[in-house]
Parts: sequence; structure tokens; C-alpha cells
Amino acid sequence: MSTFSFSLAATDGRARTGTITTPRGEIRTPAFMPVGTAATVKAMLPESVRATGADILLGNTYHLMLRPTAERIDRLGGLHRFMNWERPILTDSGGFQVMSLAGLRKLTEQGVTFKSHIDGSKHELTPERSMEIQRLLGSDIVMCFDECPALPAEENVVAESMRMSMRWAARSREAFGDRPGHALFGIQQGGVTEELRGESAEALTKIGFDGYAVGGLAVGEGQEAMFGVLDYAPEMLPQDKPRYLMGVGKPDDIVGAVARGIDMMDCVLPSRSGRTGQVFTRRGVLNIKNARHMDDPRPLDEACSCPACLNYSRAYLHHVFRSQEIISSMLLTWHNLHYFQEIMEGMRGAISAGRFEAWQAEFHATRAEGDIEPL
Ligand SMILES: [Zn+2]
Repeated sequence: MSTFSFSLAATDGRARTGTITTPRGEIRTPAFMPVGTAATVKAMLPESVRATGADILLGNTYHLMLRPTAERIDRLGGLHRFMNWERPILTDSGGFQVMSLAGLRKLTEQGVTFKSHIDGSKHELTPERSMEIQRLLGSDIVMCFDECPALPAEENVVAESMRMSMRWAARSREAFGDRPGHALFGIQQGGVTEELRGESAEALTKIGFDGYAVGGLAVGEGQEAMFGVLDYAPEMLPQDKPRYLMGVGKPDDIVGAVARGIDMMDCVLPSRSGRTGQVFTRRGVLNIKNARHMDDPRPLDEACSCPACLNYSRAYLHHVFRSQEIISSMLLTWHNLHYFQEIMEGMRGAISAGRFEAWQAEFHATRAEGDIEPL
């Protein structure tokens, strides 16, 4: 088996469920991808990430190209072997993180030159170089190199940026070449302007990709504006290819995005929050550092089957967080990732059964109850 394919199993309203098939395994959609920035999902062993139900991870081109470098990872057998994750990996193009993390950036039609935030060394990213790095990493799903202005931005700025990203998309396609079993995704831009989103979708579809991302969202525009775009943007993209919403999000963002036709998402939120003591449960968000948990013998969520909930009390998790013990990050990250995957599993089942609307109502009602009463 050496092909990449996507098959839809069921739809319910605009929500979809299906399977992406890759030589490294299947990805059940809607899918949530934990973020393994520096070739690790922080505080988690790869087998633990898998145990939460993840089918695919995301790796960050920007971080990996700087340290340990794509060439070194290639010499060591590729990113899968390097980080001991044999299932599919999606890599971003590096473009977004250059814009948010690097110093002294210079953006031209050719690409971006910048200084590393680690040691100040000078680097260049172009569509061609981004494709080369993602090939060296051995990524299964490669993202086009693009650029997006922070929102809010003037419409003409968004339009010019989007058109350059479409020229970069064509260069990315050309540089990617023909690599059976590996996929290249295009990225729709256009900010919050429907006309520009349409123009971008048309340009991408003409080039032709294995999947399509809705880019340029979750950059500070707020949920209402994001859902406003998702009310029309995914439908502009080909029905028979996976649609990926980059960098999203909170549980209710994820559910709202799936309801609007999104198949894949990624976010650092569950893992990052696990290290800062923020816990996501069916009943909303709680902060483990609050004194109310100090004497509480109950689990984070009695219905959760993750190791943190099966074996540890809120009192213990509060203690190890306050004591800055490493196990705190391990357990809370595991719980958060487990909960996010549980949401995805719940949605896949509900869409298959044609009861996604009822599932959403229950999801929102349980969250609205808030955390369990203090003892
Ligand atoms: Zn749990």
C-alpha cells in the first residue's frame, strides 16, 4: 500500500466523518492532532500519546529546522524513527512560526529571511526550502509554505498577502513533485472576507492538492468571527478531500468547526494547559492550583478513563502541581489529550449515527453545568 486517500463514511448536516489512509496507518476523522513541536509531545511518551487515541501528530518545521536541523534528522532515519512515532505525522510549513517567533524578519516574493530565536543565526525559508525540509523530516502530510497577516488587517493587505500565498502554493506544488504515499495540502487564506476566501479556494483547487487547510484563523479574531468564516469557507473547498483547520482550538471551537465541515485540527492547548494546571473536562475548565482541590479525594472527572482520573485524586494533582513535580505535567497533559480525543470519538460516533445535533446539545449542556461543587 503506497497511496494516500480520503473516504467519507457519513455526513450529518455539514459535519463529516471518514478515514484518511496513509502507508503509515489510518487517520479517523474528524481528527485532533496533538502538537509535538520539538519532536516530542511535551511530558508524554509516544505510546502514551497513542493510548489517548491520537492517530497522527503535528511537528513544527520552524523548530526542527533550527534544532536539531532537518538534515540531522534525515541522517538519523527521519522524524518518525527519531522520535519513536511510527504513525502519520503532519508538518507545518514553518511560515506561521517564523512570523510569530523569529527575529529580524524580511519578507519578499522569494520567501522570508530571519534570525533564529535560539541563537540569532540567519536562515531563509522559501516554498522550495520548506518542501525540502518537510521531505527530509519524512512528513506524511506536508503543508504549503504560506504567509498570513495578523488580524485585524486592512482588506488590501489581506488580499495581497493571500495572492502571494497562492503563488507560493504553486511553487510548493512544483517543488513537492510526485511522492506516492505522501500528501501535500494547500492553505486557503483571505482573512474574514468571503470574496477573498473564494478567490483563494479557486486558485488552490486549480493547482490541485491532496487536502486543503483553512488558514489564517485562530490568530486573535475571536470565536464569532472564526465561525463566521467557517460558515462558508470549508464549503468552497473540494468535498472529496480532507479539510484542516490550523491551530484550533478550545473544545467548543473544535465542536463548532466540525459542525461546519472541518475534518482535522491541531492545537497546543491540551498539552500546554497540562503544564500550567489548566484542566479540560466535560464540565468545562478547572484550575488544579486552586485551594478548593487541596482536600478533594475525587478524580478530575469520574467518567474519564485516563490514568490521571483512574488513579489519582484532585488533592494529589493539586499537591504535585504546587510542588512543581514533573508528574504533574505528565498526568494533566495525559488527561487533557485524552479528553480532546474523547470529544473527537464522540463526534465521529454521533455523525455516523446521524445524531450529531443531539450530541452537540448534550456537550454544551454538560459544559454549562460547570465543575462539580466543592466538598
Ligand atoms: Zn482523565
